[in-house]
Amino acid sequence: MDDHLVIAATCTVAELLAFAQDPDAPWPRARALITACCRAFSSSFKVWNTVTVGGNLCLALPAGPMISMAVALDGMCRVLTPDRRERLVPAGDFVTGAGRTRMLQGDLLRSVSLPAAALERHTTTHRMSLRPHGRSAALVTGTYAPDTSRLDIVVTAATNRPLTVPFLRPPSPPLLRARLQELLKPGLIVDDVHGHPAWRRQVTLQLAEAALHELMGE
Ligand SMILES: Cc1cc2nc3c(=O)[nH]c(=O)nc-3n(C[C@H](O)[C@H](O)[C@H](O)COP(=O)(O)OP(=O)(O)OC[C@H]3O[C@@H](n4cnc5c(N)ncnc54)[C@H](O)[C@@H]3O)c2cc1C
Repeated sequence: MDDHLVIAATCTVAELLAFAQDPDAPWPRARALITACCRAFSSSFKVWNTVTVGGNLCLALPAGPMISMAVALDGMCRVLTPDRRERLVPAGDFVTGAGRTRMLQGDLLRSVSLPAAALERHTTTHRMSLRPHGRSAALVTGTYAPDTSRLDIVVTAATNRPLTVPFLRPPSPPLLRARLQELLKPGLIVDDVHGHPAWRRQVTLQLAEAALHELMGE
């Protein structure tokens, strides 16, 4: 089996979803997360045919579900520069704020590479929006590697940039809550029409706890 899944920046969400829902494709746990992220776009399936993975990352909206996916699965962004060089940027560092990325003038995002080690982890995705099919107000992913005990919670949509909360071993629910409360500082929480910051914060804590419970099979 390949040791990476490389997703072209020009891959549409519809194409990615077709792969993620192919029962014969590898990495079923990762594909469940990819499917959930593809389905997290607001509005209807119509946008899936035109929007691209790269465009979603480069637009860097807080509710960018391809950002959620790439960060949760330890993505590495391959960026081509105007002088024909190449830079690798971890997906977790790619978005630096609402509408802001590490892309420089003239850069082109070529692809996002997901390593097999991440694709093999147990996954879960929890999302909340103010209305059905509305823009995500909070999207929390969880991944767990039983062989190493590593458990990562990634918060997107509620925050201006992705927030990864890594644990060397699964935390207790109170520890998870305490860590998130410490990290979810007011300036980090999105304040727009898609959800009040206090509500987003509270929902994020609940979604993260739900993710932990699911990953632990409770
Ligand atoms: C009905 C509707 C619902 C939507 N829902 C959501 C939602 O839930 N979440 C969300 O995040 N957005 C949403 N959007 C906004 C937007 O359509 C998406 O963010 C989409 O993923 C952007 O991708 P695109 O391929 O259309 O990018 P484009 O609009 O083509 O590009 C976005 C920007 O990135 C640049 N760019 C694109 N690709 C590259 C590349 N490979 N390298 C360098 N720069 C590049 C473009 O030049 C442009 O500046 C929605 C839009 C509509 C109309």
